[in-house]
Amino acid sequence: MNENKTDGRRQFLAGSAAIAGAAAFANTKPAVAQEAGYVIDVPEVVSMEIVGSDERFPVRRIYCLGRNYRAHAIESGDNPDETPPFFFIKPRDAVVDSRDGHPYPPMTQELRYEAEMVVALKSGGADISQDDALSHIYAYGIGLDMTREDLQHGAQELSRPWAISKSFDKSAPCGPLYTVEDHGHAVDGRIWLSVNGDVKQDSDLSLQRWSVSEGIAILSQYYELAAGDIIMTGTPAGIGLVEKGDVLNVGIAGLGEIEVTIT
Ligand code: MN
Repeated sequence: MNENKTDGRRQFLAGSAAIAGAAAFANTKPAVAQEAGYVIDVPEVVSMEIVGSDERFPVRRIYCLGRNYRAHAIESGDNPDETPPFFFIKPRDAVVDSRDGHPYPPMTQELRYEAEMVVALKSGGADISQDDALSHIYAYGIGLDMTREDLQHGAQELSRPWAISKSFDKSAPCGPLYTVEDHGHAVDGRIWLSVNGDVKQDSDLSLQRWSVSEGIAILSQYYELAAGDIIMTGTPAGIGLVEKGDVLNVGIAGLGEIEVTIT
């Protein structure tokens, strides 16, 4: 803890640390009680664990890539020779610690898993060149893009936005981040997912249609990226549904493995 902080700030941090310790794996700090100048409690800081560090990565925005693996694009009904991948967004506080499990969300009968690699940015900008893109990456990790499939299909049939199928509360359980400094860049290697021990998704990062550097370059043409942004880089083929009690395991070469129980 920084000894240069004021006494009041130090007391707050000590208090919040005690609360955080009581809630296992909490990825949010408790809201600050009415710090000067705000009419309501300050919204929580959402953050991710970093392997080998006591410090955490604060999340600003969550961008997601859709149909970024050819075989998944085909299973989703796209012709990958004609339609490129695309982007959508989840709310920042959709990121939860994978060890907390994933509560089966409301308003759906069809909850789908999608195993994805997560990229965390330490800096950003607009119109980032592909050559420069990797220099903005702080770390990589594993995440799940959980999806209310029935709501997605309903929206698709009516040509409506499918935000409610993708952007629901706690829809992005994530594992800890592996820093580029200590672990290098994740550009190829196996990505897999199992449900109750049965492997359902099994692919390789090298099969991404838009590489991480391409994805950052293209995304930055539409949005000004910034430190704290994370990008979920799309899921391989083999998506499917899960029920309460199912246990998901997801692994990516060099980025460990996470386990998520549907509760
Ligand atoms: Mn996805």
